[in-house]
Amino acid sequence: GTFDNMNLLPDILRAVKRKGYRLPTPIQRKAIPLAKAGHDVVAMSRTGSGKTAAFMLPVLNRLKEHDTSGAGPRALILSPTRELTMQTFKFAEDFGKYTDLRAALLIGGDSMQEQFAQLADNPDVLIATPGRLIHHMDEIDGFNLKSVRMVVIDEADRMFELGFSDQVKRIFRSLHESKQCLLFSATMPAMVAEFASAGLKDPQLVRL
Ligand code: AMP
Repeated sequence: GTFDNMNLLPDILRAVKRKGYRLPTPIQRKAIPLAKAGHDVVAMSRTGSGKTAAFMLPVLNRLKEHDTSGAGPRALILSPTRELTMQTFKFAEDFGKYTDLRAALLIGGDSMQEQFAQLADNPDVLIATPGRLIHHMDEIDGFNLKSVRMVVIDEADRMFELGFSDQVKRIFRSLHESKQCLLFSATMPAMVAEFASAGLKDPQLVRL
């Protein structure tokens, strides 16, 4: 497998090459086609495996393929920590650089005002920690996640270890029923497995 025969849009493939990626990693080779085919995916993979591109490329590709910009955010990526969320945001910028897709970064410690402005600007994808996302949902009248059709939970095991499971579940309850979900986790503790079997639809399991 190569990136060229994954049916990515030319503007996204160009950014992959620009980033210096020549061949997909094993997790990318398995997860990207499943995600592109519309499946829910549970992927067991660690940092360093190339997991960020494994979810970012299908997310950006789908946003571009079904271009309905402006009607609210259509993708949501949840990460457990501020640092990881910032790194993920950087990947969205890198892989989206030849598209008009826009991402908003919602993390604790940054100014709410500045994030209000990002949200008012109709971002296509929200890249957030659960706590700060909920803060925005509570603060902004009329802000909701009903337009989201693709959701990623990154480092689900860490997310739950850090005690964010109630927040993640609350966010999930506010999402539209017909959404695609990609869940990435290095390990599969019972809490994550239960969440995946309750919240995902017939997920395809990817492991190395
Ligand atoms: P991640 O597991 O997403 O944190 O990625 C770990 C590192 O590997 C990052 O620096 C990525 O940019 C890099 N990387 C991911 N996929 C590839 C690839 N297919 N080719 C080259 N480098 C990659």
